[in-house]
Amino acid sequence: MVDKSPSGSPLVATPYDASWSIAKSLELYGVRDWGEGYFDISAAGELVAQLPLGKQASQVALLDIIQGMKERGIEMPSILRIENLLDDRIKALNEAFKHAINEYSYQNHYRGVFPIKVNQQCHVIEEIADFGAGYHHGFEAGSKAELIIALSKLKDDQSLIICNGYKDSEFIELGLYAKEMGLKCFFVLETPSELPIILECSQRLGIEPLLGVRIRPLVIVDGHWNEDSGDRSIFGLSTASLIKVVEQLKESNMLHCLQLLHCHLGSQIPNIRNIRSGVLEACRFYSGLMEEGAPMGFLDLGGGLAVDYEGARTNSHHSMNYQLDEYCANIVETICECLDPLAIPHPVIISESGRSTVAYSSMLLFNVLDVRDHCPAPLPDSLPGSSHELVHNLWQVNQVVAADNFQECYNDALFYRDEVRELFRRGQASLSDRAIADNITLAVLEKVAVELKQTDKHYPELNNLPEMLADTYYGNFSLFQSLPDIWAIDQVFPVMPIHRLQEEPDRDALIADITCDCDGKIDHFSNAKGIQRTTRLHTVHEGEEYYLGVFLVGAYQETLGDLHNLFGDTNVVSVHIHADGSYDFVREFQGDSIADVLSYVEYDTKIMTEEFRQLAEKAVKQGKITAAKRKQMMKAFKASLDGYTYFEKEEH
Ligand SMILES: *Cc1c(COP(=O)(O)O)cnc(C)c1O
Repeated sequence: MVDKSPSGSPLVATPYDASWSIAKSLELYGVRDWGEGYFDISAAGELVAQLPLGKQASQVALLDIIQGMKERGIEMPSILRIENLLDDRIKALNEAFKHAINEYSYQNHYRGVFPIKVNQQCHVIEEIADFGAGYHHGFEAGSKAELIIALSKLKDDQSLIICNGYKDSEFIELGLYAKEMGLKCFFVLETPSELPIILECSQRLGIEPLLGVRIRPLVIVDGHWNEDSGDRSIFGLSTASLIKVVEQLKESNMLHCLQLLHCHLGSQIPNIRNIRSGVLEACRFYSGLMEEGAPMGFLDLGGGLAVDYEGARTNSHHSMNYQLDEYCANIVETICECLDPLAIPHPVIISESGRSTVAYSSMLLFNVLDVRDHCPAPLPDSLPGSSHELVHNLWQVNQVVAADNFQECYNDALFYRDEVRELFRRGQASLSDRAIADNITLAVLEKVAVELKQTDKHYPELNNLPEMLADTYYGNFSLFQSLPDIWAIDQVFPVMPIHRLQEEPDRDALIADITCDCDGKIDHFSNAKGIQRTTRLHTVHEGEEYYLGVFLVGAYQETLGDLHNLFGDTNVVSVHIHADGSYDFVREFQGDSIADVLSYVEYDTKIMTEEFRQLAEKAVKQGKITAAKRKQMMKAFKASLDGYTYFEKEEH
């Protein structure tokens, strides 16, 4: 069957293709490129999360989990976390370093620390502490609040706590007490001014600190976060300050406390060459500090281990040109190359990998509420005689679009359309002229798009065509709450339907959220051809839910999100997958109610209820409503306060 758009012209999409297959969906959405083996498509055309638990991968269909959520009364949108996918990431990181360490006969071990700022949610932290204990995986804390999290959740005294950020005496006292209790809690000096405070607290409490220094690496890395490195970096000690710190430590007989060098090049480093240069530079500082007489022993290489959001395996911003094994091997090899000739003992290697640890285990799931077709009204068989002359010209253009003139037709159509719009503005064309001109233009654009597909020639001025012809899918989520990096830094995340993947997705689409903000949309998608402004989605059937997922959202999104339009936190569900493919709902968190979000912006819902009651009572007095009606309205008001901030489907 050849699908027809309402205008009667062939759809831009190739007609329904019986040869469409799951393999084509896998390729189209790049599942195996970005999924790190954690996602696949089942024979039923459903997206599955999978883990290497038994002999075969254990798979759970996301649609199944949504079904289970529905039965438990958990609405869309929801963040789904897979608890043991997070475990697998910690395992992969630790095992990859172990492997590289064996390979290069490295004479020390690896200790990972999870930077709490990347995902502070209690369940995530508890899972990292529990599962990570087996690998002595610790935490990096950048504030007092984060140190308190680390101190209360860490169970294993071999794990490290690394304190970065600006530290006041309260922060330092807490860290010193931790050290006295046997925890390996390091203070990393970010500025020279921190040292006197640390020395004072240490003397007062009679506890010696474990100290580190953060250097400012000169290597400028590719990617978005390149300002964390280089001379302009706002973090870390300049070389001159570093020397001063060493002098001060010598003077106060505390140089033996200096045991760690910290070097963070930035987050999401797409290019392995930058990582190598950074490690090399860090090693130079490390050996320099040993020459000065500091005992050292720990080399902390910070974050930066990237996530391939695009699945492109390149050094573009949202991608990476290396694998985890390569990352570890490069670090271990570079340290050996640099320190072995100097006969310096191998340090404990620390990394503060955040993004790569948590990105995969969380996904945002939501339903589509509505679709705005790019061409809503069918064209008539012929133009009304009363139509404006320019509309007749436009009609002519639509009759003649062909392979040898489509570029000209495109330009003509937009010209006539804009002229008609201008005449309408000046009162010289009617509303119906304008409406029909818009529709004919879309029909021309559709034909142009069909012609464009037949040619390999590139027409830069037609770049906007896919967007002009895209349908808008309205998703039940807030970009500002759940995917803030799309808005803030043009982050690209994998987005795709989680079912119907055995069917060909026949629409070109972009995705809008429900905030009514023109920035609240997803219009950058990665596929095999690179970054595209539209993606392919399925026609939504009347009365059926259509679910989309946004993936790799476990890092940075949840607490950076804001309350734009007062859409609050979404529901969160954590599942644990078993080897036989069954799964448990291990935790559920109800998202914010409307009363919750109102209280965040200082409203008192009791007072608001009273104010609404007065409004209703006045209406009763004036005879506009009955007392019984008032009761009904009060009930609706209270139910709204308790309700979810997102679109709720009525239950019947
Ligand atoms: C943000 C940050 C990290 C985490 O970086 P990722 O790229 O997410 O691994 C690690 N260390 C420091 C000091 C940071 O500021």
